[in-house]
Amino acid sequence: MTASGKPKIAFFDFTSCEGCQLTVLDSLQTHPELLQVVEIVQFREAMSEKGEDYYIAFIEGSCTRQSDEARLHKIRQQASIVVALGACAHLGGVNALKALHPLDEVRQYVYGDKADQYETYDARPIDAVIPVDFAIPGCPIDRDEFLACVKALLLGKKPPIPDYPVCVECKLRENTCLFTLGKVCLGPITRAGCKAICPTYGQSCEGCRGFISNPNDSSMRSVLAEHGLSPEDITTIYTMFTSYQVRQKLIQGKS
Ligand code: SF4
Ligand code: SF4
Ligand code: SF4
Repeated sequence: MTASGKPKIAFFDFTSCEGCQLTVLDSLQTHPELLQVVEIVQFREAMSEKGEDYYIAFIEGSCTRQSDEARLHKIRQQASIVVALGACAHLGGVNALKALHPLDEVRQYVYGDKADQYETYDARPIDAVIPVDFAIPGCPIDRDEFLACVKALLLGKKPPIPDYPVCVECKLRENTCLFTLGKVCLGPITRAGCKAICPTYGQSCEGCRGFISNPNDSSMRSVLAEHGLSPEDITTIYTMFTSYQVRQKLIQGKS
């Protein structure tokens, strides 16, 4: 807490595109009143000051280097509440796809003759390194959901993250199901909260928010197969955002 009684919060970035932090900035622009109830002490995208005393730490990005781990442990020691912000932090996300190829090949491809100068290891979500209290899913996070989560945390409540599938929100928007249009979609097993934004604009859900806690994996696979996907295609669609979980057998699926 500050002298004014405002809880101190901090934002940290690891390997990411920083799109989730940009969404936070967007939220602050449209809801500046948030700044009246919290004090932000670290937020590299928005300020140069760096306070080390904070109550809530929002962490964006995956852990992709051994040396990231010490920084994560330090954040965990300081923060009373740690929140994974977005798919990279929550799931490993697209960063974890690099594990589909030998690490040296990936490093060579990205850094060429400077490959030896860059430390890297298999990308992983933050909770593979430190305990995480809550995750705000999505790639990027949903602005309204972020604000609702901050409000809940400040009230001492659990953030209101849905545990029902995207299909529910899709039906509420009265969308025509993409399966009836000859496309495929992971909406039946993916966690809602994004207002079904992709199918609303004719794009398949690719599971960026992770799966619901009890997905009907075998039915989902059967439906995808009935719509022409091979087992390899199904693995590909399943692993866009959750390849770490599939590899670690944290969810059903084949790596
Ligand atoms: S979750 Fe998506 S938008 Fe957010 S930092 Fe990762 S890649 Fe960027
Ligand atoms: S388009 Fe996707 S999210 Fe919408 S109802 Fe069909 S399967 Fe569910
Ligand atoms: S529809 Fe699926 S892929 Fe699109 S934002 Fe929502 S969860 Fe992510």
